[in-house]
Amino acid sequence: MRMCVSCHKKLEPTKLKRFSIVDGKPIFDTTQKQPGRGQYICSDECLNKFETRKQKGSKLRKEKP
Ligand SMILES: [Zn+2]
Repeated sequence: MRMCVSCHKKLEPTKLKRFSIVDGKPIFDTTQKQPGRGQYICSDECLNKFETRKQKGSKLRKEKP
């Protein structure tokens, strides 16, 4: 199961869209070979919320290695 980065719902990977953050923007990973950590989003609505939140400059929690 993968978690939507916006609403934090857990869904099957097939129901989510994968993207990675490149230069602070979400780039959809159609090839599965994009650099960076893959992230998942469940809907366009969630993507909009996620982008808005990023633009407001709220801190993303950094994961510990
Ligand atoms: Zn979502």
